[in-house]
Amino acid sequence: MKLDLRKLLSGETDRIEIDYTLDSSELPEFDDVTFENEVRVKGELTNNGGYMRLSLTSSISYDSICARCLKPVHDTVNIDFEKTVCAQGDLQNTDNDDYVEIEDGMLDIDEALIEDMILNFPLKILCDKDCKGLCPKCGIDLNTGSCSCVTKEIDPRLAVLLKFFDNDDGDN
Ligand SMILES: [Zn+2]
Ligand SMILES: [Zn+2]
Repeated sequence: MKLDLRKLLSGETDRIEIDYTLDSSELPEFDDVTFENEVRVKGELTNNGGYMRLSLTSSISYDSICARCLKPVHDTVNIDFEKTVCAQGDLQNTDNDDYVEIEDGMLDIDEALIEDMILNFPLKILCDKDCKGLCPKCGIDLNTGSCSCVTKEIDPRLAVLLKFFDNDDGDN
């Protein structure tokens, strides 16, 4: 949603309440992730003597699968931020996450929300941070069972090393 800031900029009001529903088709696509259809977004825009702030909160529920054991995962990404609103052209460094810029008297709320959501979205979706995953040899779910292939073949030192790289690579 784009919010018309003219009343705030002209001083007619010093606060605009934000409460709307975003269609999840507006959200970016993530592999194997299905978002709830509608996302409630709340917040406010305030003007305190020319110092304008945008604050937004939202909780976006999604369904996905665990990256390790493939079990269904239902989780929520929480959004809660405040940013300084600056006039068009004031923003020198457009990569600065603490600012949002007015364009033609309007502020793109969805864009600010989605940027923050991407930053907060897990790199790796897991059913549990300690999920043991599936045995790469026989496919058994190691959270609920065990198999001889793992205990025989993986040296404990190697297991530590594998776990280290697994935590380190961040995206698969
Ligand atoms: Zn899992
Ligand atoms: Zn196995």
